[in-house]
Amino acid sequence: MSLMGLPTELLLMIQHEIRDDLLAHVCLMKLNTRTRALYNAFGTDFWKMLCRRNGLGTLAGDSVGAGLYQTIAVECAEHAWVCEHPSCGTARLLENAQSISNARLDDPTCSPTRTLRDEDPYILTPNGIFRCMAFRGGEFGAPCHTYVTAEAYDGQDMQDTDALEAHPIVMRTFATFPPCANMRFLTFDNVPTASNNDGVTVFDVMKSAKSIMSDIPTTENIFTWLRRNTCGDTSKVFPQAWSIVDMFESVTSIVGWFRVARWIGFAYEGSNKFAFRFEPRRLPDDPSEISQ
Ligand SMILES: [Zn+2]
Repeated sequence: MSLMGLPTELLLMIQHEIRDDLLAHVCLMKLNTRTRALYNAFGTDFWKMLCRRNGLGTLAGDSVGAGLYQTIAVECAEHAWVCEHPSCGTARLLENAQSISNARLDDPTCSPTRTLRDEDPYILTPNGIFRCMAFRGGEFGAPCHTYVTAEAYDGQDMQDTDALEAHPIVMRTFATFPPCANMRFLTFDNVPTASNNDGVTVFDVMKSAKSIMSDIPTTENIFTWLRRNTCGDTSKVFPQAWSIVDMFESVTSIVGWFRVARWIGFAYEGSNKFAFRFEPRRLPDDPSEISQ
C-alpha cells in the first residue's frame, strides 16, 4: 500500500513522529489533497509552534491572519529545498532548532511560544549568525544594503555574498535565543532599537542597524570607539603603514567601522542592551584599497 492509501489514523501517527522537522511536515502536507486537508485542520497553534521551534518569526510586512504561520512554514521549507547558501537553508533551520532547544535547557519554563519582555529576568544569547551579516554602501548619504555572507567572509571577497532579502530563512531567524521583543544597541549618543512582539528577527536588527550606518560620530566619539574596540592599541586593527589620519578618516561614519573591522555580532550587556563586537581583519597597507 502506498502512503497515499494509508488510513487517517496512520497518517496522524506519522505526522506525530515527525515532531519538529519543518521540512518533513511541509513535504507530507504537499503529498496529496488528504494530507493537505489534514494539515490545514491543525490551526494556528500547530504552525506557530513548528515555526518557533525552528527559530523562525514574523516580519513587519506579513499579512496578519489565521494562515500566517503555515505560510511562513511553507515559504521557508520551499526555500530550504533550493537554497545552497552556507548560512541559510536546511543548515540554518537545524542550527536554529538547536539554539531554541538549548535556551529551553537553560530554563525549562522558557517556552518556544513565548517572546521575552523587557522585565523578564533572563539572559539573552545573541544569535551567532550576525558573524555572517554585512553592510555595503551607506556613506555620504548613499543607500546602505544588507547582505548575508559565508562564515569565512572577511570583508574582502564577495563569494557567497547575497542580498539578505533573497534568504527568507535568515531574515526570519530570531536574533536572540530565547526570542525577545526589544533589543537596544549601544553605539554613541544614539541608541537604535529593534522591536517585534513575536520576537526580534535578523531582518529587524539589520533594518535598525542600517538606519545608523550613515551617522557621523563626533571626533570625541570616534576616539572613544577606537579606544574601546582596539583596547587602546590601534596596531591590533590597523596596519603599521596607516597613519593616525588614515585611521581616523576610515571611521568617520559608523559603516566605516564595519569595513575596517570584522563584525562578529553582539555581546549581551543586560536589560535588553547589546554592544556590537568586532575582530581585526586583514587590511591593505594602502587605505585607499580597502573594499567598499
Ligand atoms: Zn537562503
